[in-house]
Parts: sequence; C-alpha cells; structure tokens
Amino acid sequence: TASQAAEERGWHLYLVGGAVRDLLLAEAAAGTLMITDIDLVVDGFHKSADVGAGVELAKALQEIYPVARLEIHGAFQTAALLWHKDQDLDSLWVDIATARTEFYPYPAANPEVEASSIRQDLYRRDFTINALALRLTSPRAGDLLDFFGGLLDLEAKQVRVLHANSFIEDPTRIYRGVRFAVRFGFAIEPRTEEYIRYAINSGVYDRTAQTNSKTPALQTRLKTELKHILEAPYWRSALQLLDDLGALQCIHPTMSLDSKLIRQLRLLERCLRRFDPQQNLIPWQMRLEAIIAHLAPKYRGKVAKNLQLQEDSIQHLQNLAAAKTEIIQSLSEYQRPSQVVQLLRKYNLEILILIALQSQRPIRRQIWQYLTVWANVQPILNGNDLKKLGYKPGPQYRQMLDDLLAKTLDGDITNPVEAQEFLAK
Ligand code: ATP
Repeated sequence: TASQAAEERGWHLYLVGGAVRDLLLAEAAAGTLMITDIDLVVDGFHKSADVGAGVELAKALQEIYPVARLEIHGAFQTAALLWHKDQDLDSLWVDIATARTEFYPYPAANPEVEASSIRQDLYRRDFTINALALRLTSPRAGDLLDFFGGLLDLEAKQVRVLHANSFIEDPTRIYRGVRFAVRFGFAIEPRTEEYIRYAINSGVYDRTAQTNSKTPALQTRLKTELKHILEAPYWRSALQLLDDLGALQCIHPTMSLDSKLIRQLRLLERCLRRFDPQQNLIPWQMRLEAIIAHLAPKYRGKVAKNLQLQEDSIQHLQNLAAAKTEIIQSLSEYQRPSQVVQLLRKYNLEILILIALQSQRPIRRQIWQYLTVWANVQPILNGNDLKKLGYKPGPQYRQMLDDLLAKTLDGDITNPVEAQEFLAK
C-alpha cells in the first residue's frame, strides 16, 4: 500500500537501515526474522521529493489504516506510524522520512536537515551495513541499492564506517559500531578502528560533556546507546570492547573497566537475579549506576547529569559517598541486627546495593543479610494483637511495635508469650 501511494505521487519508496541489513543477514543464515522497526525513505522520481513528502505519505497511509497512530516530527520532516501490539499482531513502528542529507555545522552538534536524494540520504548514515536500501516502488522494485559496499561488508562480517571524521561528528557512533560488532559477531574494520581511536584521542569527552543548547541531543543519544548496550544479553562483551577501544572515555576521561569494576558488575548480576522479581529494579540502569559509581565521588553527579539520568539515579550517585562513609563506620561497630536495621532502613535499595558492591566482604554480608532477611522481619505481635491485649490504640503503638521488632530481630523474644511479657514490663 505504501509503495502504491508513493507511486501515485510520482515518488520512489525505499526500505532502509537496520531492516535491510537484518533481512540480508537472516537470508544468509536461512533464519527467520521478526522486524518491529521499519525505516522508509521517500525520494522524488526525477528530482528530489518535496521535503514534506514523508509526512504526506504517512498521512495518506493513516487514512487507509486508521488504527495506526500518526506522529509527526516537524523539525526533521519525518513521520511515524505506530501499530500497537494486539492479540494477532506484534507492535510495529514505521518511520517515514523524506530523503535527506545532514550537514554538521560543527562537530558533535545536532544534525540539521535539508532535502536531498536517496544516495545522499544513505551517505549520511553511520556504517556501510546500515547504508543499504531496498527499492519498493516500480520500476525496478526489489533492487538493492548498495553504494558503499555494505553487502561485501556483511559477507566479510565487518563494521565499516562511511567517513573518516564520522566519530568526531558523532561520538555515539562508536557505541553503535561496538553494539553492531558484538551483536552480530562482526569485527570492527581496521581503518574504522583507527578512526575511532583518533576521535577518542582528539578529546571526545570534552565535546560530549560540553553543555550548550546544541549538545543535549548528543548526551541523550549517548545515554540511549548505553541503555541499548546495557540491556542486551551481550552487554559484557560490548563493555569490554568499548574499554579496549578507550571509548569509555566518552563517559568520563578516567573511566575504565578495571578488575574491580568487573568484579562489582559480577556481584551486581547475582544481586539482580536475587532481587529483581520483587523490587522492580531496572537492570540496565543499575549497571550504569554501578559503572558511574566506580568513578571518584567528585565526578559521579556531574557525569550522571551529563548523561541525563533520571533524578533518582542522580541522587543515588550524588549521595553515595556520604552514605557509604556512614554505613561502613557504623556497621563495623554494630553487634546487633536491630542496630543494622535501624541504620539501613533510612536508605533505598539501589544505594545499598551500590555500597555493598564497593565494600569489603563483612560489610557486604551485613547489607545482603539486611536486604534478604532482616528487612522482611515483622514484629511478633501486630497492631490488632496489641488491641486484643487491651492496649489503647494511639501513637505509642509505633514505639511498641518498633521495640518488639528490635527484640525479635536480636532473638531476645521468639514467641507471642515472651512478647507479651516484654510489653508488660
Ligand atoms: P537496531 O536493529 O539496533 O534498531 P538500526 O540500524 O535499525 O539497528 P536505528 O538506531 O533504528 O538502528 O537507526 C536506523 C538507521 O538510521 C541506521 O541503520 C542508520 O542507517 C541510521 N542511523 C542511526 N543513528 C545514526 C547515527 N548516529 N549516525 C548515522 N546514522 C545513523
């Protein structure tokens, strides 16, 4: 239907980007493919299509498929059609753009947009394997447009960048390249690796971390790429490759994946397996917090803000150092579980996990014991029991229940009779 609508208007329509790459990879592996994201590009037949062509086509399609939701992104002249998941269909996201080229007024800034043809549209993309297009309109529907050797690179299993200065223009492409390499088991082509190292050595952090009206988009993209990587099953290998390339410096110049951080991330996985079902921890976010927490305290808040993490993550990272000092000092003096509970219940789960990861075994054990056992202990009697025993309801209940909880935790009372005797005293 989309091709028909484009043909009626004298336009060409192309399937571009990841969907073409994944189709070709699935074909080579004789595998099946589930595509949930489709990128389409509209181009003029004899001359460039009008800049609003993508939006016009999306509107025409929405009239044919009213169940799809239409979103228009004015500044970039793109439109998206969204089909939500229902019983028969998985969700589907179709982006429709007008063929365009992007020029960068200066490195690491937000791309600006002007209308242009399909070749130029593909030319502005990141890697050859992502710069393939499949023509959907006649004549020559089904033709593969491969201007930059993407097909050969798919066969050679390598990630090759299109331009020497690509990573200087947009350092998040380093993360994208690593993600594709690890995900498909591809190598980073040697020249591409040189360009990556060059971009990193030329002060990548200063550009990503600079805050001005043009750069927030870059930081958001870096966070998005980190999210993609840290929620993928291959996140460990991706992080290792980023470190080998020196690319963790995009997060902060002092950031590296040393053996301490590797150990902490391993501990975190154990902890996530244990807590995740009940506590709604977000694994990729916890991994990122653990990575940032590995920086010296003075950098953590700034890096978390630069990456535009959620306010609660920023808080954890900013408060971590002070909380850690208090907890380590107090826990090494405390003997009784009730003291530990009283201290640790002031802190939320995420911060306690981060502190446990960074602490020596005795402290870590106490925090785990608190999180897995002590935090769930209830006083032997509850408010109803107190009422039945004839105690007058009121604010004193809180204190009585707290006292009972402390005695229960410390093993001083083990049954309701002992609890009643304790209260009577
Ligand atoms: P995935 O399967 O992981 O979604 P994808 O290739 O579809 O992979 P998208 O992030 O959806 O990735 O991007 C769609 C296309 O847009 C890419 O294939 C690439 O051609 C282009 N693209 C995306 N981000 C960039 C970028 N930072 N620089 C240049 N081109 C990009």
